Amino acid sequence: MRETKKRIYLSSPHMSGREQQYIEEAFESNWIAPLGQHVDAFEKEIAAYAGVIGAVALNSGTAALHLALRLVGVEPGDRVFCSTLTFVASANAILYQGGEPVFVDCEPGSWNMSPAALKQALSDAWEEEKLPKAVVVVNLYGQSADMDPLLDICGDYGVPIIEDAAESLGATYKGKASGSLGKYGVFSFNGNKIITTSGGGMLVSDDLEGVEKARFWATQARDPARHYQHSELGYNYRLSNVLAGIGRGQLEVLDERVKARRAVFERYFEAFSEVEGITFMPEADFGRSTRWLTVLTVEPEKCGVGREKIIDVLEKENIEARPLWKPMHLQPLLEGCGYYPHGEGESVSDWLFEYGLCLPSGSNLSEEDQGLVIACLRSCLFGD
Ligand SMILES: *Cc1c(COP(=O)(O)O)cnc(C)c1O
Repeated sequence: MRETKKRIYLSSPHMSGREQQYIEEAFESNWIAPLGQHVDAFEKEIAAYAGVIGAVALNSGTAALHLALRLVGVEPGDRVFCSTLTFVASANAILYQGGEPVFVDCEPGSWNMSPAALKQALSDAWEEEKLPKAVVVVNLYGQSADMDPLLDICGDYGVPIIEDAAESLGATYKGKASGSLGKYGVFSFNGNKIITTSGGGMLVSDDLEGVEKARFWATQARDPARHYQHSELGYNYRLSNVLAGIGRGQLEVLDERVKARRAVFERYFEAFSEVEGITFMPEADFGRSTRWLTVLTVEPEKCGVGREKIIDVLEKENIEARPLWKPMHLQPLLEGCGYYPHGEGESVSDWLFEYGLCLPSGSNLSEEDQGLVIACLRSCLFGD
């Protein structure tokens, strides 16, 4: 037992020390708000990192999703397809626009959107003459979806992809940055993500006109006039200059953060990959996962202990662990929405939700603390 049980989190902020310098610059120039040079620079730096032309810094990833959905023209009653295994923000943004979400299952190889399920969903929508305005593809737990087949299928029907890359900044797909493959890409800098501004997000795209439109809407849609004139509905969605300064300091160490998270994964993998009934989230061969979170499935009939028991034992030691995201097609909020499983009678996300477990995975998780997590898990599995 630990004497002072400092909580071990799934994913906590990890500052580099460089953020402070950028914040000070903002203070010295009194560019605390509204926008300012850090915002401009942070946008350029993220765009360069992702290999896209345009970026607009926002106060959350959810805001970025909302603007992307408005850019593709989602209006009340329009359908939008979306990965079912995701955080609710992906679906909420569709509801903000009055859209009607239809959820698509994941596939076993990457735990991301199933091309087979998407194909079926689009073919049915085509027959019903109600194609979606967009497909929101979520890149889960630090790994890209298999974008080429998804892009091909969407291309056949002329439907754009919005990549929800909130969890996958730093990941790659066939050498390209995750988040840069769809028509629009969305990053999040929320406190639990791989880098954080305490709260923030970014919309990226090669569609410069779209990015400029998003920037306009995000700044209360102010017409170019002296007297605060408005012809369109706008939002207060921009990122502050101070927070953009934190983001710049964080972005400098992103690659180190990816390495650290992957090292955390490797240690768990070494400890438990041989255990019957334990299966780690696969890393598909099309790219690099950041292993934002280490995620695995626990099948009690094979390893003798269930996920709930493991979470309880870890919680007693003040260690945070959780099931995977509860799929959107199972959420009370979204009851009645359509859903396409990976195969007939085969819902991969339901299975993953039943057995999946997220372990503490922060880039600042010390080897000592991870040792405690591993020891706890060993005690559950082997009774030692
Ligand atoms: C975190 C997250 C978001 C939302 O980002 P915020 O910055 O918290 O608004 C959206 N989608 C997914 C998949 C996320 O994990």
